[in-house]
Formats: sequence, C-alpha cells, structure tokens
Amino acid sequence: MKEIRQIIGYIDSAAGEETFHSGNPSRKEPNGSLIYRATRAEVNLAVEKSVAAFAVYRKKSGAEKAAFLEAIAMEMENSGDELIQTCVSETALPKARIEGERARTMNQLKMFALLIKEGSWVDARIETAIPDRSPLPKPDLRFMNIAIGPVVVFGASNFPLAFSVAGGDTASALAAGCTVIVKAHPAHPATSAIVGKAIQLAARKTGMPDGVFSLLFDNGIETGVQLVGHPSVKAVGFTGSFKGGKALFDLAVRRAEPIPVYAEMGSSNPVFILPGAAKEKGKLIADAYAASVTMGVGQFCTNPGILFYQQEQTEFTGSLKEAFEKTTGGVMLAPYIFNAYNVGLQERLAVIGVEELSAGNIVSNGEENLARPVLLSATADVFRDNPNLGEEIFGPSGIVVTTGAKDDLLDLARNLSGQLTATVHGTTEELPGYRELFDILEQKAGRVIINNFPTGVEVNSAMVHGGPFPATTDSRTTSVGTAAIFRFVRPVSYQNMPEALLPPELKDDNPMAISRMVNGIRKQDHE
Ligand code: NAP
Repeated sequence: MKEIRQIIGYIDSAAGEETFHSGNPSRKEPNGSLIYRATRAEVNLAVEKSVAAFAVYRKKSGAEKAAFLEAIAMEMENSGDELIQTCVSETALPKARIEGERARTMNQLKMFALLIKEGSWVDARIETAIPDRSPLPKPDLRFMNIAIGPVVVFGASNFPLAFSVAGGDTASALAAGCTVIVKAHPAHPATSAIVGKAIQLAARKTGMPDGVFSLLFDNGIETGVQLVGHPSVKAVGFTGSFKGGKALFDLAVRRAEPIPVYAEMGSSNPVFILPGAAKEKGKLIADAYAASVTMGVGQFCTNPGILFYQQEQTEFTGSLKEAFEKTTGGVMLAPYIFNAYNVGLQERLAVIGVEELSAGNIVSNGEENLARPVLLSATADVFRDNPNLGEEIFGPSGIVVTTGAKDDLLDLARNLSGQLTATVHGTTEELPGYRELFDILEQKAGRVIINNFPTGVEVNSAMVHGGPFPATTDSRTTSVGTAAIFRFVRPVSYQNMPEALLPPELKDDNPMAISRMVNGIRKQDHE
C-alpha cells in the first residue's frame, strides 16, 4: 500500500501514528493509499522552515521566481499518467476533465511567471524630492508592493489540481515572493502528494531555499486550525465551503496579530432571463442552462443555482422542463458531498410552495454516490419568504423562480446576498432598458455576465473570481487571474533611501525597464 508523508521543505516526514485512507467515491472501499496525519511538531517545523526560507526567497528576482514556477509546471507535466490516473480514482472526475485541469494549472503557473518576469506588477511609484519647496521641503518617496510573508493555502475538493496544491493560490503567493504551506484536501491526498513532490523537485532544480514549500495532510481540522493560528503565518488563501472559510476567517481575526484570510466560498450565481430573450431564444437558453447546472455533476462554485424569469413565459417553463429531463447526473466527489446534496434537496422540497419541476437521469453501473439532477421551482413570494432558498446547494440542482414584471425582478435582485457571478440574458433591444438591474448586480457580484453562463472561468488579467460576502471574505480581490497576486503583498514606502539601497524596481535609471508612476505620471520603460 502506498504511504503518503508530509512534505516539509526538502524532507518527507511521517512522525505521527494516526493515519487515514483515501477513498474512491464511485466504490466505497479505500483506493490504496495510507496517509499520515501531520503532528503538531510537524506543523511547527513546516512554519519554521517557511519563515527561514521567506528571508531568502523574497529577495529572489522575478526571473528566478519565474523559473521556479515554470519548473513546477514542467514537473506536473512530467508526472504523466500517474497523476491523471490517481486523480481520476480519487475524484471520479472524467480523465479528459483532469487532463484539461492539469493544462489549466500549468498555464496559471506560466501566466504568473510571465507577469513577474516583466515586473511592472509591483506598481512602482516615485515622487522625487523638492528640497527647496516652501513651506516644507518635499522628501524623496518611493512605493512598491512586497511579499507579505509565509502563506497558508487550503485547496477545494472540486478542483483537485487548479484550486489545490499547485493551484491559483499557491501560484500567486509564490509569484508574489511568499513561501507557502498547503493543507491538502482529504478528498484527494494521493493526487496532492504527487503535485507536492513535483513542487519539491522543481524547488531543488531551481535552487530555491529549503522550506519555500510544504504540504501537510489531515482528515480533520486540527492542522488547518494550528496553521492559521501560528503567529508566523501572515496570510491565508482558502477555497471551499462557507462554513470552513468563515471559521478560518473568524480564527484569523481573533489572533493577537490578525491576518488577512482570502476565502472564496459558495455562491448561487443568479441568472435573470429577460422577457424578449425568453421569447426569442428560450429553448436555446433552457438547454444551455441545464448544461451549465449539470456540468461536472454541478460541482462548480460558479454553478448557476437560481434562475429568475417572468411567470407568463409558459413556453420557457416547458423548455426548461424538457432540457432538464435530458440531463444525466454522475458520481459526486465524496460521500459527504453526496449526502449534503441530498439533504439540501430534501430541505428545499419540504418548503411549502417549492416543487420539483423536472429531474434528469442517472446511469448506474453499480457506482456509489450517484447524484440525480433536479430542477426545483417556486414563485417570487415563496422565494422572498424563505431566504434559505437563495443559498447554494453544491450539486446538479437549480431553482427557477417565476417573477412579476420588471419591478419585481429589480426587487429580487436588490435582496440578493453577495455572489461570485450574476448573469443576464436579454435581446440587444431590451438590455439598455435594464440599466438599473446592472447597477444593482455590479454591487452584488464579482463578475456580471451577459448572454453567457458563469461556469468556465477564464484565467487571465481581466478575470474577477470573487465578490461581496458571503461569496468571499474579502470583496476587494480575486482568486483567479493575475490580480490574485495582490492578496499576498503589502505596499511599502522608502523615504530618502540612498540609491544603492533601493530595490531595482525603484532605482533612478529603471534597470528592469518596468512601467512606473513618476511624480503622478504613468511612464513606460525608460521614458
Ligand atoms: P471544505 O469542506 O470547506 O474544505 C476545504 C478545506 O478546508 C479542507 O482542507 C478542509 O479540511 C478545510 N476546513 C474546512 N473547515 C475547516 C475548519 N473549520 N477549520 C479548519 N479547516 C477547515 O470545502 P470542500 O470540501 O471543497 O466543499 C466544496 C465547497 O467549496 C462548495 O460549497 C463550493 O461552492 C465551494 N467552492 C468554492 C469555490 C470558490 O472559488 N469560491 C471554488 C470551489 C469550491 P478537512 O476536510 O480536513 O476538515
């Protein structure tokens, strides 16, 4: 049986006696890996190494850090079919999806490598001195972003590569110059271990300090709680449930030294179908909605779980019903996720006024944890009277809410809580008449989408994967795209610093040829 140990910098450690098994969610028996739970001493050692490594790593140049990120991508590729097979067996996700997710994870690493090689991301600003300014002399002031310190990362169950050990949080923290300790998700520990080994190897090959990266395992909350409470940890990146993210946030603000927790949590991702769109292309929209809700067995944080449309569109109701009947469910990521899905559905169906509008299929080959897609329906009044209906059910389910005319739609939008995304489908003619709806939605969501669906998150410099609470614990940031780097930095000003002591980004002759703000004017290269 394969044994999985903690990766603590350059050492592998199995000091504890407590172990757990990784499971294959489609069959209930263990899938062959035995995982050691981290001990308190191992957690402390990982943090100590992270602190020591930070002093060295934060001073590496953008090119050196970029070489490390690129090497991680290469080692992930070199992990070949073993990584893919292990991940498929731990998550029951299809091979093609995992292959795509590995490519996405590697591209994220390369995207951050490009960003830090170029260097302008530090947002350098220079205000030159005016010694004879009256009434007071103006000092020389130079501003830039620097790494915040050792960062703890919690990966989610539903993206075992892209939001996990070498996912966006780790890539952005390493790019910023922070050292990283990952708490592996217990639903895919063997996958995590392979990726952890790839990072360890990449660190060695590119000459990174011992402790730049560590990976700890636990199937309970103790390791995570100890890490977030450790005084030397300076920030936390989390992707997962509301319950987990909020608990860690509360813990972090109660510390003697509070630290930022960037928790990306659940979201219901409301979709508004305007009357013209329902009439003109209702069938197409219904098919696309059903596909979006059931994609990946509905296990996406961007799953569009609520759909609002005007009640007189009876043809559209029929299209939704038909579209959902054609869908097929699948094995969920873990038994606890499958159970939570069924409990969530039963709780909703127990609400007076909520009905099952349609259900999809399940094709069983003897697998366990097979979820059936279900589309629920309710009126706007029932939705208003039962705020729980607005919460996320993680799985292939949605609720369609029939509304009155425009004012009713606007009222429902105003009462939404914070979301990762909000979507509107409308015709070119009717969209301008809904300016008020967009004014409301941009206050509610991190991403406002027109005539598209929220699943399928592009990874680039213009993406926001975030949003107001309770979608996240910090609405000012994103966990996807290059802007994710700003979560793990803090600005520092140097006043009257001698030229020889200034970082290259702030030296007079701009040796890195980066874009900078000089005396309030944006300048490119050596301008
Ligand atoms: P989860 O149960 O919250 O687990 C995430 C990680 O946090 C695990 O390592 C877990 O450790 C740890 N954890 C949870 N509660 C904790 C606590 N109180 N103290 C310390 N550690 C704690 O999340 P999940 O299993 O991935 O569940 C899926 C959820 O994630 C869905 O609701 C989905 O919408 C959300 N999600 C959000 C995004 C996004 O970007 N916003 C992306 C993907 C998924 P243990 O399991 O060992 O306790």
